[in-house]
Amino acid sequence: IDDIDVSVFNHLESDVRSYCRSWPTVFGSAQGSWVRAEDGREFLDFFAGAGALNYGHNNPLLKQALIDYIAQDGITHGLDMSTVAKRDFLETFEDLILRPRGLDYKVQFPGPTGANSVEAALKLARKVTGRESIINFTNAFHGMTLGALSVTGNSMKRAGAGIPLVHATPMPFDNYFDGVTEDFHWFSRVLDDSGSGLNRPAAVIVETVQGEGGVNVARPEWLRALADLCAERDILLIVDDVQMGCGRTGPFFSFEVAGITPDIVTLSKSIGGYGLPMALTLFKRELDVWGPGEHNGTFRGNNPAFVTARVALEQYWSDNAMHQATLAKGERIRESFSNMADSFAGVSTRGRGLVQGLVFDQPDRAAKVCAMAFESGLLAETSGPSDEVVKLLPPLTITDAELAHGLSILAEATAKVCS
Ligand code: PMP
Repeated sequence: IDDIDVSVFNHLESDVRSYCRSWPTVFGSAQGSWVRAEDGREFLDFFAGAGALNYGHNNPLLKQALIDYIAQDGITHGLDMSTVAKRDFLETFEDLILRPRGLDYKVQFPGPTGANSVEAALKLARKVTGRESIINFTNAFHGMTLGALSVTGNSMKRAGAGIPLVHATPMPFDNYFDGVTEDFHWFSRVLDDSGSGLNRPAAVIVETVQGEGGVNVARPEWLRALADLCAERDILLIVDDVQMGCGRTGPFFSFEVAGITPDIVTLSKSIGGYGLPMALTLFKRELDVWGPGEHNGTFRGNNPAFVTARVALEQYWSDNAMHQATLAKGERIRESFSNMADSFAGVSTRGRGLVQGLVFDQPDRAAKVCAMAFESGLLAETSGPSDEVVKLLPPLTITDAELAHGLSILAEATAKVCS
């Protein structure tokens, strides 16, 4: 095991400013939970585009809808036009997602990516409140544009931008102090004490489960206390659901577990359903202070993605089946990870729904497990500040047999690395 050179799995190609994740091969095609390499090797995908492929690769229903749309010369780029695809998506989103949950949000298309949605959320919060600063959390990740990066907690990622970034103050995320819960008390004290030096913020931005930050799960009661604290002080609550939304943790919106209603919500990754770029920013009706053209951009609203997004919502979110299946599959990963944690010192587990982490006290072990899993035909990536967590994000559509197969590969790799 010690002979494995994990650095080869993080190589930079010499002549291209791009990087290959930890997988030294060239991939060619993909179907469902599987990705095929050019050399014919097949890999089970427990990464799923970092949560952009909740319905699997080339989902047959979405693929057919896309083929039909293109065959009929459906509009691909229709900037600021009302289009049939856009209208149909919005109606379906309202009917299947917002109304049944009693959510009365306006829907904005902020640009193609998650970071665009975060930018729109931060700008809107600042414009509505007339305040400048934002509260973010330790280990948060919100994207790589300047505003989104400013509320990101990873110093390695922030270093590329130079300083100072946009004004943001980090507070401890739930369980940051190893299960000590007084951190919340400290947070409210700092907000209320005029001597703390903290300017009243426009908004708090939070992930319910920090994906990039290491699968850190906020307890529902912590999220409720945070929502109350914001409401009492007229601070807007932004939930960044870019990675945890669209059913990743079970319910369509990850914050449903806490019964809270954020003021602003960001969505991207799996909202388009087919891996096509698409993002939404949702905000309470009374927050609509945008003037014409104040947040524009050429690629806001991807019509082919509206088509696949609508079909995905109709197929998977017209009843409760996806929610329940995700919780059941998540439980299976948890059982398997708990067995590993019981068997080996320095291994623990945490997660919610189909985002589950296997946490190693010795960070290099997580990279080794992923490297060995790759050799056995499984794609999984590490996350966390020291890349100490093997993070599983399989497609929500994964079969029980596929899940069991992938977990057996991980169990074998963990046993080899830890013994
Ligand atoms: N917010 C969260 C919670 C994310 O996980 C990510 C991406 N990993 C982003 C924002 C940024 O999204 P994008 O990469 O599409 O800009």
